[in-house]
Amino acid sequence: MTETIYSTDAYAQKMTATVVRTDTDDNRVLLDRTVFYPGGGGQPHDTGILSVGDDLLIVSRVTSDRDGVWHWLDGSIPSQGTEISGSIDWERRYQLMRTHTALHALCGVVWNRFHAPVTGGNMQPGEGRLDFDIPNWTAEDLPVVERELNEELAKHRRIEVSFLPRNAADEDPSLIRTKVNLLPKFIEQVRVIDIVGLDRQADGGTHVGQTGEVGSIVIPKAENKGRGFRRIRVRLEE
Ligand SMILES: [Zn+2]
Repeated sequence: MTETIYSTDAYAQKMTATVVRTDTDDNRVLLDRTVFYPGGGGQPHDTGILSVGDDLLIVSRVTSDRDGVWHWLDGSIPSQGTEISGSIDWERRYQLMRTHTALHALCGVVWNRFHAPVTGGNMQPGEGRLDFDIPNWTAEDLPVVERELNEELAKHRRIEVSFLPRNAADEDPSLIRTKVNLLPKFIEQVRVIDIVGLDRQADGGTHVGQTGEVGSIVIPKAENKGRGFRRIRVRLEE
């Protein structure tokens, strides 16, 4: 398995690591530790560079499986046992962290107002969307949700990362609403992201340390996809 530095320290931008396995068919290497997020929960994977001596290798894709985190490379791959250093495209990742936290804060605001669960979502650096089941949404709700979201972000709420045993997470009502029971059975520890006082959910992604780092948010539109299905888009103001 790969030590996933990003899951406890989202601000780590660089690492040194050892190649533990290579896959020449897919031009990728498995590392013993990494700061590269492999994607998941709607957050895209990181991009960046691995350095082997003076050679720079572009990491074009990152994936994970039960063996660990795979770094897909452009160019020739280093052999097993090679010591490498790596760094992610931090500007892009930090935008994703801010966007991801904004979406969780939106979950909290919508839950407090409508008790509506999230049914889907996606994001790119600087913008994202969440789908909710909100039967009683009206056009007047959009500016209200936008204002409440910005007020919550401006409270500089702390964001805490913790790990819960699977059986405890399965019985926690606030986590069940974000569908912990949909996680693969083999996951024994559930990672929890808590925007303290606003939103708490099972999540594998990377977040900022407090909501003030998100800045302000624009909600350009909420689309009606039929039968209570609302798609709400958010955009970082800068
Ligand atoms: Zn998330």
